[in-house]
Amino acid sequence: MLARILRKLESFIGADGIRWSNIPDGIYSFNFHRIGNWKKTRFDPCVFSCDSDKLDDLIVFFKKEFDIISIAEAVELAKKSSQKIHGKYLVITFDDGYKDNYTKAFPILKRHHVPACFFIATSLIGNNKLPWWDRIAYNYKTNKFKSIKLSSWATTVKYKGDDKEFVRDILAATKISLDPIEVQLKEIEKLFPLEGELPTQEFLSWENLAEMILHNMDVGAHSHNHEILANLSQDEIIYELTHSKMLIEQNLPYKVNSFSYPVGSQGTYNKSVTKALFDCGYDIAFNFQPGINVNIDENRYDLRRFSIEPSTTIHSLKNMLSYAKTY
Ligand SMILES: [Zn+2]
Repeated sequence: MLARILRKLESFIGADGIRWSNIPDGIYSFNFHRIGNWKKTRFDPCVFSCDSDKLDDLIVFFKKEFDIISIAEAVELAKKSSQKIHGKYLVITFDDGYKDNYTKAFPILKRHHVPACFFIATSLIGNNKLPWWDRIAYNYKTNKFKSIKLSSWATTVKYKGDDKEFVRDILAATKISLDPIEVQLKEIEKLFPLEGELPTQEFLSWENLAEMILHNMDVGAHSHNHEILANLSQDEIIYELTHSKMLIEQNLPYKVNSFSYPVGSQGTYNKSVTKALFDCGYDIAFNFQPGINVNIDENRYDLRRFSIEPSTTIHSLKNMLSYAKTY
């Protein structure tokens, strides 16, 4: 509360501009998921970051304010462990591997000559598999049910007048349930059957990624099945890390050394995952928590990223960074 009043006061007297000009040296990272209009999708609206126009504006802003670097350059900086980083570096990342990363984001990045890293969940690449979150959102958008309760859920999730909020609430209930996702999907589709063929969700193809690599884009692993790694056994963790790396390296002329944790919030990964990353030949890993990376070597398997949301503006972004914590 006090911090918010202080922020407002600083903004009023113009001190927020001073804060912005004094943001610390370090590695900054912004993460995107889907590019496009969330209001028009048949799938999960909550994974949209921004539309093409805003991405273009953001890239112009990033280029002006930061030194945009590739994964190789970030690893290089991490290896200069004991030295303090001089400069404000930026790593642009995309999670999951949606097709719009190629059709919408890639042309903009290419035009601005900036690199970005695409973290792909390899089970979704090169096939028509619909991930569970899009499958549930698609079911709601097709059947338009107004409330839902699965046997493992404590409460009924009710529609409160907002499509996006309802989808978010259903997905949240699914995530905290003790039943496996597959069991819940079956139950949902028994309650609300889907007729006809499921639409093919569009994820990147290996051909798309091969072309992106030719234009200085990086590819990182985001596991194979996009499961919460902290919930898996050690053998399953190793499989997720090695299988995704192997598939990328088999399909692309590219050596994978970076990873982003599925979901990526606190508690979705742990020390044994971090150690497995090191053992499996990864140099660097990103979470999905805000913060400015200052102690790079110490945190090289726990680098922070700011999320880009449909509500993000250049002004809100500056504000977020001006008051962000360093790690
Ligand atoms: Zn993801």
